[in-house]
Amino acid sequence: MNAKILNILLWIAVTFWLVMMLNSFTTSDQVETRTLSYSQFLQELSSGTVKEVTIQDETILGMRSDSSRFETYDPGDPGLVGDLLKHNVVIRAKPPEQPSLLMQLVSAWLPFVVLAGIWIWFMRRSGGGGAGGLFNFGKSRARQHAEGEVRVTLRDVAGVEEAKEEVGELVDFLRNPQKFSNLGGRIPCGVLMVGPPGTGKTLLARAIAGEAKVPFFTISGSDFVEMFVGVGASRVRDLFEQAKKSAPCIIFIDEIDAVGRKRGAGLGGGHDEREQTLNQLLVEMDGFTGNEGVIVIAATNRSDVLDPALLRPGRFDRQVVVGLPDLAGRAAILEVHMRKVPIAEDVDARTIARGTPGFSGADLANLVNEAALFAARSGREDVGMDMFEKAKDKIMMGAERRSIVMSESEKKLTAYHEAGHAIVGRVVPEHDPVHKVSIIPRGRALGVTLFLPERDRYSMSKRQLESQISSLFGGRLAEEMIFGPEQVTTGASNDIERATEIARKMVTRFGLSDTMGPLAYAEDEGEVFLGRSVTQQRHVSPETALAIDQAVRDIIDRNYQRTKQILEDNLDKLHTMAEALLTYETIGKDQIDDIMAGRPMREPDEHGGGQSSNATGGGRGAKQGQSATGQPPVAIGGV
Ligand code: ADP
Ligand code: MG
Ligand code: ZN
Repeated sequence: MNAKILNILLWIAVTFWLVMMLNSFTTSDQVETRTLSYSQFLQELSSGTVKEVTIQDETILGMRSDSSRFETYDPGDPGLVGDLLKHNVVIRAKPPEQPSLLMQLVSAWLPFVVLAGIWIWFMRRSGGGGAGGLFNFGKSRARQHAEGEVRVTLRDVAGVEEAKEEVGELVDFLRNPQKFSNLGGRIPCGVLMVGPPGTGKTLLARAIAGEAKVPFFTISGSDFVEMFVGVGASRVRDLFEQAKKSAPCIIFIDEIDAVGRKRGAGLGGGHDEREQTLNQLLVEMDGFTGNEGVIVIAATNRSDVLDPALLRPGRFDRQVVVGLPDLAGRAAILEVHMRKVPIAEDVDARTIARGTPGFSGADLANLVNEAALFAARSGREDVGMDMFEKAKDKIMMGAERRSIVMSESEKKLTAYHEAGHAIVGRVVPEHDPVHKVSIIPRGRALGVTLFLPERDRYSMSKRQLESQISSLFGGRLAEEMIFGPEQVTTGASNDIERATEIARKMVTRFGLSDTMGPLAYAEDEGEVFLGRSVTQQRHVSPETALAIDQAVRDIIDRNYQRTKQILEDNLDKLHTMAEALLTYETIGKDQIDDIMAGRPMREPDEHGGGQSSNATGGGRGAKQGQSATGQPPVAIGGV
């Protein structure tokens, strides 16, 4: 029965009830009756005009000799009957009026019916009518995908070859379990996909669903979590029951960290439910062996927070790392997404890939999309390389905000600030090359200096880190040197913050300080939830804390001085570059090369460094550091 019919029935019932109520209030008597006061009635009685009365409860219906009717109420007069008899009035008595049986039933039960109706209505509403209504609380919310329903195939996933291989093996097994069991091999029953966000874990799972010709259940970790304790656990039970019925099959649990976090972590209440859910998950995963044909695939970007019990053999014993794509991977991913848009002749996926180190699959998909949008906006038929360049800038440095009007002095200050970053970045050893400098406001920054590594980078040396600290101070120091210490702006706060962070990490996490040695002094930042880090803080003595602060200070001071020296030595170049920025707003690698070599500067093309730098450069953007080692971001933004 759907809600509409229920509604209509409800209305009919209410109307019916109202009509009945009204009915009982109106008298069926058609003849007009007048209501008399009791004393008037007694007067009429004694004057002898009353011929007949009908007494029902307190109501007295009377008829006079002239057949006119009246009505009055008995105030409880004990002498009434005597009086009536004395005046020869015919007396009739009626039993008190009983409402009809139906009326009685209706009036007694209707409120309950209405309440029940409302209750059912709410239930259906909260459940959206489908699975998971209030009645289905403990039912799993997994969606089962029928064969052929998912269009994604492994061909749509690129750049993560190892993961594809591992996963392909599973698909193989499900299609042909004999092949494996004949050799005595045991197929893992749980596979955990781990990797940074946007690398294609969910996509990969969907591809498996598309390829494996077996039932595929998907559920997100957060679907288990509910307000009420025990619900998650019963959902897990239900999911596995369902799955076992349709084995061989795959269960995919996305974002498993929502339920799979280390038990005993977290502050305050609220985690009991999660722990029960996790326990149930552990029990269920133990409940069958690989040859039962249920494979659990889970995805997370935080395997470090997962409960160790989940990771032991027999559960998620196989981990597939879905990492950030390398150069070839990025080109392949770009090609996958370029299939969907009209691409101009001059576009080369490999060139773009070279300019986008550190981009995840999702970033690259976004890049293609942004480029297509730029092309559409400028009325092009296809998406050219210049559109990709624009899109790349937008993603790495933020959208241009040309509407911001900067005063001349602000512009000048910004120009010197960014030129300071660029020059110091150029001079210090092993710094990523400057890709672009711009004083067009983007996002929240008034200007941007973009450094791009030459190739994918997986770790950083101490020298590289210190060079970065130096270039971060370049902006502030340039401001100070040109405009005086009184004119220095707040714009460098982000630079200072990041420089301090790098220095602190060097001391407390990377073991790169001379005085503090290779010790980890800081809790790994992996813990997002307060509880663990509050209760299990790595304690350092006050003396050590002081020494850490001193070591951080040393690094900062050393680099601050170096930056100052560099800027003083290159004052003429600072002026030239700032001037160039004020003229062109954006300059690229070629222009910076010229300025640093003391040559007359080439005219920048429309996009500042443009494509020539793309070929040699490589780019990792203003996106915050994503790599596992917690490398600081490369681009330097903001005034
Ligand atoms: P996550 O790893 O966070 O689950 P998703 O699988 O949701 O990432 O990826 C988001 C989107 O990014 C995908 O829908 C797809 O368009 C794109 N993408 C990510 N990785 C890849 C890849 N390896 N190949 C092709 N496209 C990808
Ligand atoms: Mg995902
Ligand atoms: Zn800055």
